[in-house]
Order: sequence, then C-alpha cells, then structure tokens
Amino acid sequence: MPRKPTTKARLLFFSNELQQWFEKSHRPLPWKGEKDAYLIWLSEIILQQTRVEQGLPYFERFREWFPTVQDLANAPEDRVMKAWEGLGYYSRARNLHATAKYIAQTLNGKFPTTYEGIRALKGVGPYTAAAIGSFAYELPYAVVDGNVYRVLSRFWGIATPIDSTEGKKQFADLADRALLASPLPPSKHNQAIMDFGATHCKPKSPLCAHCPLSVQCAAFQQQKTDQLPVKAKKIKKKNRYFHYLVVNAGDRVVLRKRTEKDIWRNLYEFPALEWPEAKASEREIRRSAPWQACIGERPARIEQISPPQQQNLTHQKIQAVFWEIHLEGLPPTTTELAPYFLADRKNLSNFAFPKIIDWYLGDNSLYLKLV
Ligand code: SF4
Repeated sequence: MPRKPTTKARLLFFSNELQQWFEKSHRPLPWKGEKDAYLIWLSEIILQQTRVEQGLPYFERFREWFPTVQDLANAPEDRVMKAWEGLGYYSRARNLHATAKYIAQTLNGKFPTTYEGIRALKGVGPYTAAAIGSFAYELPYAVVDGNVYRVLSRFWGIATPIDSTEGKKQFADLADRALLASPLPPSKHNQAIMDFGATHCKPKSPLCAHCPLSVQCAAFQQQKTDQLPVKAKKIKKKNRYFHYLVVNAGDRVVLRKRTEKDIWRNLYEFPALEWPEAKASEREIRRSAPWQACIGERPARIEQISPPQQQNLTHQKIQAVFWEIHLEGLPPTTTELAPYFLADRKNLSNFAFPKIIDWYLGDNSLYLKLV
C-alpha cells in the first residue's frame, strides 16, 4: 500500500504545482504586478465584496480621477461618492476618502510600509493588509479570501467552518505555511492561490479533471468538492420597503441627502417613506411625513405609481415604489424645504444615487421627460 505523503511533502507539492500553474495560466488584470501601494490599496478596497468584472471599471475610474493619494484626499466627498456610485457598501467609499486624508495630512502622503502600519488604516482588515504588504513590499503575509478558503479546504479536506473563530485561525495558519513553502515570492504566491481559486477551483464546477493538484486533493479523492468549504451561518435577509415621492416642480425635482447611520449614507434620494409593506394607499402617502414636509397643503397630483422594484443587499432585501407627483403652483422655498432641496432635472446625473434609484431614472418616463 502506498504511504500517505507527510504534511510537509504535501505543502511542497501544493506550492510547487501552484507555481507551475500560475506561470502558465494567471489572469491579466490592470493592478497585477503593480508596486504602488496606493493603487493596490484602491484595487483591494474596490474588490472587497465585489466581483472582479464589476470592480474593474471602478478601479479604472478612480485611477483616472484620483491618480495619487493626495488627489483623492483633496477631492470633495460628493465626487468620491459619484465615482463609487452603483458599487454598493458605501461605507467603503467613506473609509477610503477618510484614509486618503489621513495619509495625506498625518503621514505626509507616505503610505505605511509595515504590516502593522497598513493594518492600522481604517477599513483595512487582515486580508487587505496582507495583500497590500505582499504586493507592494513582498512582506511574507498570506492572503485568505473566499478563493483561498475554498482551495485550502478542498485540497486539505478541512470541514471546519470558514466563518468560525477556529476555522479562521486554522486556515490562516495553513495559508502562512503554504506561503513559506512556496518557491514564489509572497506577491506571486498570493496572486497564484487567489487566481487558482477564482478560475480553476471554482465554487461550482471546479476543473478537477485537468487539475495539477487532483492526485493529492482530499475533496477530489473523496468526491466531496461540492461539500467544501463549510459555512456555519446562513444570512437571514431583512425586508424593507421604501415609497419614494418623486415630487416634480416645473423642471426641478425634490431630493435630499441621506445622512443617518443606515444603508446608502451620503447618497441622494427622493423624499422616502419607509413602510411595513410594498402596498400603501394614496391617503397614507398624502399623510406621510415626507409629503407633509415637501408638499404640505399645496395642490399636487399623483400622476404615476411604479410597480415595486427590488434590490438585494447582503443583509437586506429592498423593495421600492416610486410615486410620481406633480406639484401645482409655486414650489416651497429653500428654507421651507430643508433638509430637502430642489435640483434641476438636467443635473440629476451629477448626484450619486443608490442603484435602485439609478435603475428607476434609467428606465422610467421621468428620465425620458428630461431629455
Ligand atoms: S482537484 Fe478539484 S477540488 Fe481539488 S484543488 Fe483541483 S479543482 Fe479544486
């Protein structure tokens, strides 16, 4: 009976095969081989919870609009939010901007060069710190993202949940050992394992039949690829319903900036009523706080009601209904309206909106009336 390879031998096999695979198959991406820590940081923050294809145009835009950390630090917040519009998880954009200011003002524009210094930046967790440290400075820290968890759990046959404290530690240790055993420098080894997970050992239909690791891959040998990795918690989504009042006053429309600690902070929206369901009567809408604040007793006609539109966030399912309202007579003054305000319809593209409002503006007759 053949002897089982030792852990050390498997580590060497894993790292060597990964190196050979990487030299033939790695994905060309604009930030690959980049040594500018600022640009690496940008790409990493943009790619957190975002697919590469979706994040790419945002990275290109940020690099063009804000080529240096100083440019990003000096930019007005609305411009940063506009550059981020549609990418979701808007706290990342706010952290990005705050961190750029911190680097520009407190660190004299110099990006930190140690793991601890990078890790201390707002919005930077262990994964991002390892990625920036290894890509920019070849610091020997292994990245552990969803791709890495998948490859390691399948190859080693580890069923410890990846979202448990024990699992996080176990996978981080293993990832570090694989990095130290690798003939590649830290930047390339980290890139190799992430690319391998993203394009070869994919969540569904991994390419096991053509896999250089298959002879020693526990999941493949035991036919468990569809059972690994294991996640302990299932996210339960909260349902929320927004009724947007699209109040038209001549060629202007009422908006406000979301400032509360909630989703979409610092983005713009129409006056919104959050309601227990997607259905609301005209009477309920007319008596609602946003109607009272923006229209009050002025004569106004409800012209159209959209069917509910849906947007899925990680923890919430949003349904939005748009009420198109025509305000007759003189609009309220700026003081009467505050914190709402009137914006020219032709300038709506200057504002950063949540995706669900962008869809509505892109789809709806409101938009057609503007051009
Ligand atoms: S054999 Fe299959 S499951 Fe194992 S590492 Fe290769 S692609 Fe992943």
